[in-house]
Amino acid sequence: MDVQRKLEILADAAKYDASCASSGTEQRDSSDGRGLGSTAPGMGICHSYAPDGRCISLLKVLLTNACNYDCLYCVNRASSNVPRARFTIDEVVKLTLDFYRRNYIEGLFLSSGIIRSADYTMEQVVSVARKLREEHHFRGYIHLKTIPEADDTLIAEAGKYADRLSINIEVPEETSLAKLAPEKNVRAIRRTMGRLRLKLDEAAEKPATKTRPPRFAPAGQSTQMIVGADGASDQTILTTSANLYGAYRLKRVYYSAFSPIPDASRALPLIAPPLVREHRLYQADWLMRFYGFDVGEIADGHENGMLPLDIDPKLAWALRNRQRFPLDVASASREELLRVPGFGRKAVDRIIATRRITSIRVADLARLHIPRNKALPFIVLSDHRPSARLLDTAGLVERFKPKATQLGFGF
Ligand code: SF4
Repeated sequence: MDVQRKLEILADAAKYDASCASSGTEQRDSSDGRGLGSTAPGMGICHSYAPDGRCISLLKVLLTNACNYDCLYCVNRASSNVPRARFTIDEVVKLTLDFYRRNYIEGLFLSSGIIRSADYTMEQVVSVARKLREEHHFRGYIHLKTIPEADDTLIAEAGKYADRLSINIEVPEETSLAKLAPEKNVRAIRRTMGRLRLKLDEAAEKPATKTRPPRFAPAGQSTQMIVGADGASDQTILTTSANLYGAYRLKRVYYSAFSPIPDASRALPLIAPPLVREHRLYQADWLMRFYGFDVGEIADGHENGMLPLDIDPKLAWALRNRQRFPLDVASASREELLRVPGFGRKAVDRIIATRRITSIRVADLARLHIPRNKALPFIVLSDHRPSARLLDTAGLVERFKPKATQLGFGF
């Protein structure tokens, strides 16, 4: 099989993994004339977008899509009837360097089906990164998928070469994993996450001596959870995420709407990918990480533990907590302002800077990039006070729901 055909199969097989967007690595470049490529802190890779709107990409492939395991949600499972392929280590190295030189990619995301054993597979994955870094002085971004049961020395070596390591938790509940991925061991996954965390902590420590701690995955670790393959509610998913962030200091949890993969197992729901649900989970995750909300505030009180799909989770929280509003923008704390629907973090910073020198009026909201209709029922400004009746009306929520649209007839 030629490399082009392998690439078609193995890039396609990798597309279901959402955990490869990246950020926060160390800065490297090859301006000293040695090596190839560069990375800059804070840049995302793998179809993510830079602040200027530029799409940043990476070569996202599997070393092989053959796998001994039979995880029902995975297109590469042993019982799946898909064409199989396997790259050699040198083929992935060459592809990465060629694509990099041609400016197609800025890094590599490498994962693999499990072949022979966890150690053998991990050794193969690490060999690609080792070769890129040590023989070709590749300075671009490398994200490696970690195989949970792999030996500690291999994990340590992976962290030496990779910018980011990830290991997918797959589904939020242990019972679902036992049903959908019987060979996977949730304890092994968590144990490996714990080992990664220890190594990340060690690498981050600033020892009193001049010896620097060994380099270990400067962009941290991430994971992915599949949404909709089992019956877990949003509340369960978000609780699992909160635990993962707390226990393992993950950089990101990625949510991936389960899509009925080709040749899907009959044990899985035949539904369209729940993309809006995935979006609401990302919004809720954002609220936990950057807006000071805890899981209970976001997820409690919803039917069956599911976030509403028609309004965003912050607005849903504000509507359930109307007694806390309206908030006086002139005197509210930063924490309170962050809870106002329509107020983003940058907008809150601008409000705080602006109110030091002048009072904020309705007309200023556009300048502060705040959606006026969303925010006005919840705030007091120098020339605006919402009527108490408006905040109390049962129909307030309707104001924010998307308008129904007439479907076309298609002819
Ligand atoms: S271990 Fe499971 S999820 Fe990973 S490639 Fe194999 S079948 Fe897919």
